[in-house]
Amino acid sequence: MEIKVLKDILSANDQIAQKNRALLENKQVFTINIMSSPGAGKTSLILETIRKLKNKVSMGVIEGDISSTIDAEKVKREKVPVLQINTGGECHLEAVMVNRALDNLPLDDIGLLFIENVGNLVCPGEFKLGEDRKVLILSVPEGDDKIYKYPLLFHLADAVVINKIDLLPYTKFDLEGFSLALKGINQKARLFQVSCTTHEGIEDWTDWVLSSMQRRKRTSRKKS
Ligand code: MG
Ligand code: ZN
Repeated sequence: MEIKVLKDILSANDQIAQKNRALLENKQVFTINIMSSPGAGKTSLILETIRKLKNKVSMGVIEGDISSTIDAEKVKREKVPVLQINTGGECHLEAVMVNRALDNLPLDDIGLLFIENVGNLVCPGEFKLGEDRKVLILSVPEGDDKIYKYPLLFHLADAVVINKIDLLPYTKFDLEGFSLALKGINQKARLFQVSCTTHEGIEDWTDWVLSSMQRRKRTSRKKS
């Protein structure tokens, strides 16, 4: 019985995610769903990306948090349209929440939209939002063993960003072992190593964002 209820919720979510997808494609908005545990650096990576790309592409952000507008205020200071979703207890974003947020964003003026999911390594993976890409951030202090404990998100991600690499000398994080483990469960995921503090590796990441956007544009042109 409980399994059936869960299935119903998930398929209802997928239907709304498809609607979001259609709207975003129609408005030519490339959307990246950013996931990680709390404190891994989702907001920091979004801010770094905005600073790096603001002369090249118009961006927007949806901030998902259980409560508060702290992260949305940081984004607003960069003069980027931002909308805060407070889930009021839910530990992940659902497509219906994003649908409401999209109604309140100037989509005609946005080419690249970041959706910062609620900090959580488990259930955000179960809920499609209508995004083009799923990105997972793992920060060095969390340890390289998270891929074994929470494999679903690592399996689904189009890109995995290792953040806080400036802390590598002070931890036992095994980058080589992690990279092998990632290849084992997800052949397609791109792996980036960045530090939002020292800005190391940020350009590799933003190059991938731009090239993913361009690839999407080419395929949608082919279709029409
Ligand atoms: Mg945040
Ligand atoms: Zn959840």
